[in-house]
Amino acid sequence: VPELPEVETIARQLAPLVTGRVIKGIRVLDPKLRAVSRSRLAGDRIIRVFRTGKQLAIELSGPRWLVIHLRMTGRLTWQQAPVARRHLRLRLRLEGGNLCLHDARRFGTVQVVDELVEPGGLDPTSRRFTLAALEALIGSGRQPVKPWLLRQDRLVGLGNIYASEILFEAGIDPRRAVGSLAPAELRRLHRCTRAVLRRAIRACGTTFSDFQDARGGTGSYQRYLRVYGREEQACPGCGGAISRLEQQQRSTFFCPVCQR
Ligand SMILES: [Zn+2]
Repeated sequence: VPELPEVETIARQLAPLVTGRVIKGIRVLDPKLRAVSRSRLAGDRIIRVFRTGKQLAIELSGPRWLVIHLRMTGRLTWQQAPVARRHLRLRLRLEGGNLCLHDARRFGTVQVVDELVEPGGLDPTSRRFTLAALEALIGSGRQPVKPWLLRQDRLVGLGNIYASEILFEAGIDPRRAVGSLAPAELRRLHRCTRAVLRRAIRACGTTFSDFQDARGGTGSYQRYLRVYGREEQACPGCGGAISRLEQQQRSTFFCPVCQR
């Protein structure tokens, strides 16, 4: 599932390719997206492409926004060559090429809205994500810190991969109650959240099962993963075995020695 760095990658790559182009036509191949074809986007110009939470937003001259959530297997790419038909759900014909949504499992969503609703949680890459803001969000919460990091009404954009990596880097046990973190641990959590996301964005995200960026390329952050998906392998910190546990039906990877 694309998390914040993967969606940010797609937005940054698409922006220079499609900004300023006019929509010539729209082709919807999946009945689940029928509402999009009724919205008469032809004639609108693309003003801006950006990430909002884990979603991709395309601002149109309407003014209105196309809001795309890629979910499990969605891929949004810019294509000038003939477009592959397999798993194609939506094709936006622009001047000079096509913006295509391919999606094997069809969980991705596309909406056309007149008003863009900001996500409920705080974006951990924004300037507003300060140590004080993190402390205020956490309060005296009793939830374990790993599932807390996945709460989109607190911080937006984090998923299973980066939550595990951030907690390893911060040396915090994922089972700790979030409100029990000492000031030094909160500082590490804040610093490592920023650092891990910044590095992941620089590496164009993590390619796990089938993430592809806007150019059809793959991210490279999987090379830097230190605990995620590495159960029973050697911890890069102490050499002991990485453990896996289930928290809210999701896998958490961590080192029981390095993370306290
Ligand atoms: Zn370790």
